[in-house]
Amino acid sequence: MSRFIKIFFILIILFIFIATGLLANENLIYRAAYECNNTTFLYFGTIASADDQNTCDNQNSLNSEITTPIDNNSFEQSQPESINIDSNNSTEKSEETKQNNEAQQSDSNKSIQNKETEINESPIESNPVKQDYIIDKLNTKNMWHNKVVYLTFDDGPSWITPKILDILKTENIKATFFVVGSAILSNEVTMKRMVEEGHVIGNHTYSHDYKYIYRSIHNFFIDFKKCEEKIFEATSIRPKIIRLPGGSNNKIHKLYGPNNLMYKITKILESDGYVVFDWNADSKDSSQALHCSDQIVDNTLKYISRQNNAIVLFHDCSLKTNTLQALPIIIDKLKFLGCSFDILSTNSFKVKFLKNKSIEETFNISVDMWNKYHIIFEELIY
Ligand SMILES: [Zn+2]
Repeated sequence: MSRFIKIFFILIILFIFIATGLLANENLIYRAAYECNNTTFLYFGTIASADDQNTCDNQNSLNSEITTPIDNNSFEQSQPESINIDSNNSTEKSEETKQNNEAQQSDSNKSIQNKETEINESPIESNPVKQDYIIDKLNTKNMWHNKVVYLTFDDGPSWITPKILDILKTENIKATFFVVGSAILSNEVTMKRMVEEGHVIGNHTYSHDYKYIYRSIHNFFIDFKKCEEKIFEATSIRPKIIRLPGGSNNKIHKLYGPNNLMYKITKILESDGYVVFDWNADSKDSSQALHCSDQIVDNTLKYISRQNNAIVLFHDCSLKTNTLQALPIIIDKLKFLGCSFDILSTNSFKVKFLKNKSIEETFNISVDMWNKYHIIFEELIY
């Protein structure tokens, strides 16, 4: 009898041992079940863990796509952590955040332009019905009246810029041009014309070269000041407004410089009286999948519809012929809908992706130390 009891206990212990081992390998068991197309299978996990496994597998494949090396020179990408606007409209802020997460701004280098040209040869058809729907729906809600639109053009001047100036002159609209210093050479006449016709010029750095300008604070300000000098030589104006290549909260700078570089650059600029401008309405005229002019119209109107004050991002570098075609249509529609136009200035409506940080947070030093450091720093970089 005692022999049977011993065997019984041994079997119980063996069963507990096996069951414990299986529980510890629950994921393994579930994976087996999952790989067998979810056929009925003995497992000790939960349905939730099964779903998690499935999701995780999908996520891993997504991550592998996301972590594919980026062509750093192919586009600017802005993924703002937050947006500072001089409006307290929370809906507007959330829309802007959403929109700017999608925002992509192109580099002015020729390789991109070549890519864009290739894509441009087979433009995607837009949907005019959808466009009319957007306008009609919003117009009936009376959302378009009293909107103020700030047209801005980056990466010029180029041969396109005089044509844009012609359109703006015909429409009697003033705009803001964030120019690249290296593009001013051979376009001095265009620069003078911008000023004569009442447009505003902003600084968009001399080289627009991420690898160089975002390697260090020193590099950035050398480039920034070089652009300022070129603008001054051409127009006798030193702009106090600036748009940082890629936007103030671009991620691409982290490939070349310290993570908090944009905060430091912005803080120094603002301490010196400059105003950094981002945007809240992206025409997407520079996205990799280049849009035809109808799509630029759609994008622009869609994003403007979400704002009370809309700073629109366009580009006037070479090959932006779609922007050129879209611009008169956009202006006509905005005028028809009752919008007004204005130029950016240090006192105008502002959009900045990068959130404000104190001197202490940005530089890890006291304000007193900052004042001393800043003066010394300026002597070094200017
Ligand atoms: Zn740019």
